[in-house]
Amino acid sequence: MNDLITTVTDGFTSRFDAAPAGLWSAPGRVNLIGEHTDYNDGFVFPFAINRRTVVALSLRDDRLLRVASSFAAETVELPLDDLTPENLAGWSAYPLGVAWALSQFGADLTAVPGFDVFIDSDVPIGAGLSSSAAIESAVAVALNDLWQLGLDRRVLARVGQLAENRAVGAPTGIMDQSASLLGEADAAVFLDCRSLEAEVIPLGFDAAGLELLIIDTRVSHAHSTGGYASRRASCELGARMLGVTSLRDLTVDDLARAADVLDDETFRRVRHVVTENQRVLDTVRTLRAQGPTAIGDLLDASHLSMRDDFEISVPELDLAVETARGAGAIGARMTGGGFGGAAIALTPSALIPQVTAAVIAAFAAQGFGVPDLFVVRAADGAGRQE
Ligand code: ADP
Ligand code: MG
Repeated sequence: MNDLITTVTDGFTSRFDAAPAGLWSAPGRVNLIGEHTDYNDGFVFPFAINRRTVVALSLRDDRLLRVASSFAAETVELPLDDLTPENLAGWSAYPLGVAWALSQFGADLTAVPGFDVFIDSDVPIGAGLSSSAAIESAVAVALNDLWQLGLDRRVLARVGQLAENRAVGAPTGIMDQSASLLGEADAAVFLDCRSLEAEVIPLGFDAAGLELLIIDTRVSHAHSTGGYASRRASCELGARMLGVTSLRDLTVDDLARAADVLDDETFRRVRHVVTENQRVLDTVRTLRAQGPTAIGDLLDASHLSMRDDFEISVPELDLAVETARGAGAIGARMTGGGFGGAAIALTPSALIPQVTAAVIAAFAAQGFGVPDLFVVRAADGAGRQE
């Protein structure tokens, strides 16, 4: 973090010939459990991680917007009066999209000054840890402060989501921004995707000596676009045939009826979502009652459900999960949309080296590409840097 503070300050000063007015940062996130439940109005349980995007920002005397990033050579400039989603493209659509989206939540863009912003980050891009929510949330808290908007964090999460939906054009839900804005150290965000109610739940990983190991398979999400769309379609079909608004309205007690009404494939898609929602509720309850060492079985069951019922795993993810479990992780599952990406393994701290070595060896033995393994901790959400 100290390195990032130095590089972002230096980057701002060298691009804009002045020191920034302040620094703000926001974390990436990982989803502990609750996969493909968000668009079914269900439950998710992500946490903010100790990898952050930092923005250095100053207001200007005029109405020009200038955005720069360590990630790109160019400095993008746009007059505030030209700020519409249609005018945005490329990486700068994330920060500028947030500036625009604030106008949809009460900011009067005809009355605010322009700004210069420089962005740096140690959230890996495209690894499923939501570098996109990190950049959106960091810019959102910075502008909320300097434009003196007084918006609360739940509104800022919707601002980030709107930027991603309209300016970037990605039809994502509100999970990532909620985790990035509402997260707290050693805690996760229990989010109801229907009511948008969010509750911070202590994880207790530190006291239990547990860490979350990310196993990035580096398999790219080759079928993800088509696979994602077809899974969503199956969920909508299942809900329609069962006469409910969304699969959120079903419980495990409805599954017997679902098995009678639905074809086998649709039934298994529905069963994943219904049981996954229950597993999120069970995870929150188990954490409260017994602590984190008791949630391993729920993580394992989530993986099997994605592998067998939702059919979104790949051999690399299955191997990562099985090997991590065999080497001492207390629970493991693929995380994210599927068809590649990362798995997570809840692991006693002392066993991290042995689980890491076992996974690397297993991948080599299968002739798979070299995975990237690293530990993440649950960290505080977005805010101003002291
Ligand atoms: P992720 O899973 O990391 O969220 P996305 O495709 O949703 O992947 O978002 C990644 C995109 O966000 C990048 O391609 C880039 O356009 C933008 N982005 C993320 N971090 C930065 C950064 N530090 N500087 C500039 N753009 C960034
Ligand atoms: Mg993203």
